[in-house]
Amino acid sequence: MADNQKLRTPPKIYQYSIVSALMDGQTLHGIQLKDLVKQGDFGLGTFQLADGEMILVDGTAYHMRHDGSISVVEPTTYLPYAMVTFCRPTVTTSVSGMLKPNFQKHIEDITPTAKNYFLAIRLDGVFKKVQVRAVKGQDVPGAKVMETITKTQKIFNLENVEGTMIGFRSPACYQGITVAGYHLHFISKDRKAGGHCLDYEVQEGSAGITIIRSLDTELPDTDDFCKADLTLDHEGIVKAEGN
Ligand SMILES: [Zn+2]
Repeated sequence: MADNQKLRTPPKIYQYSIVSALMDGQTLHGIQLKDLVKQGDFGLGTFQLADGEMILVDGTAYHMRHDGSISVVEPTTYLPYAMVTFCRPTVTTSVSGMLKPNFQKHIEDITPTAKNYFLAIRLDGVFKKVQVRAVKGQDVPGAKVMETITKTQKIFNLENVEGTMIGFRSPACYQGITVAGYHLHFISKDRKAGGHCLDYEVQEGSAGITIIRSLDTELPDTDDFCKADLTLDHEGIVKAEGN
């Protein structure tokens, strides 16, 4: 693709499967990382059997596990749920001394016309604290992911840590397709700690925001997906994601 064509292409999110399928326990199949990275160099997801949290930073995917270990993901690894984009921020901002609600309010304030659009968010900086979790995963394939999270998640409280937070804010009406509101993952600069963000306090950092109006969702081509119960479980998702 010529560079000028690339520039004219509006940013798009690619998503494999939907959150409601994940909640129903659809975690056995997925997209291989080598195919996912053709759709974006920035994003998040999970692994087969919901074993851990994935963050995709500058084209490299990391597997953040419940035992605190982190490794680079192999190209042939399957991801049953992932949301990625090519992050090309159009709005940038400096952030200092902000708790999670203040940061979210700040993002809303600097993107006043984007309330009903998607935002891809990246925040690099020093955090006073970051509370992250990583799920151990299902003992039994197909187990409801809400129960899996409650039973197996391990919470880590990181303090005075430098790192990168990456994720999306989705419009409320997309609950069940994506996670409505904010869904962010964190990895430390030394790549030794991270997970799904539950809470955080930014000391100093810079954020880049991309406003996105296009979501490309690929639904799994599996018998399990055809049989899945995709009834929206709003409260379950809010609880599972810690929003
Ligand atoms: Zn997550």
